[in-house]
Amino acid sequence: MMVVDIHAHLKHGDRRRTEYTPAEILATMDGAGIERSVVFAMCTSAERAIAMAEAAVLFCPARLIPFAYALPSYERPVLDLLRSAIMELGFKGIKLHVGECTLAEYVSGPVFALAGRLGVPCLVDFGGQLEACRAVLSSHPETTVIIAHFGRYLCQDEALVDQFIALAEGHANAYLDTSGVVLMHKIVEAVARLGPGRILFGTDGPHSFRDGPEYASAADTAAFARAAVEGILALPLSSAEKRAILGENAARLLRL
Ligand SMILES: [Zn+2]
Repeated sequence: MMVVDIHAHLKHGDRRRTEYTPAEILATMDGAGIERSVVFAMCTSAERAIAMAEAAVLFCPARLIPFAYALPSYERPVLDLLRSAIMELGFKGIKLHVGECTLAEYVSGPVFALAGRLGVPCLVDFGGQLEACRAVLSSHPETTVIIAHFGRYLCQDEALVDQFIALAEGHANAYLDTSGVVLMHKIVEAVARLGPGRILFGTDGPHSFRDGPEYASAADTAAFARAAVEGILALPLSSAEKRAILGENAARLLRL
């Protein structure tokens, strides 16, 4: 079974803005049985984030899949950078984070429209902003939108997760990413409601169970990623459904 991680950071949005080298990400993947990972950076300029992902894919083109980081703003158009990353460098998608840019149509709409035209997905951390998510999905039906963390990172609010699942159910262009999901039974409910085809495994890694730079060894980050894979394998789903979530859906979506 091929395992694909849809969500791995070359640079995180955490307090320390932690960066991981491609070698560290690969060591994490090796320790967790992950074959391929989507990689991107955040908390830096779109230009530097694209350069980091480009360097990563040059380091290991067979296993690392670059996403461009979009930091759109009204004054600082980012479309040319994104277009050349996708058209010239072979990037496979775009990452946006609501914590770093507004998803208002007049700012981010052109990014979603570009992704739709170029046929690449947008992986979006909506930070629990349900209405922003609804607006993006319905304004850009031609764009595949991967909803990171089932809507909100480490969300304990069952009702909010249910609303994001319902939103995905109602929009054929929506996918759900399992990274940072703690209410694991919601993944099972999502399979029941929208089928297994639009749910993607992710780790949001590299991460460790314990916070602190002293716990960021490959053994620590591999343990975290392995637990994420095992979390999916332990769900009361069929093996075909688990295969779809862990890798087949991503392979199809990203044409791997
Ligand atoms: Zn993330």
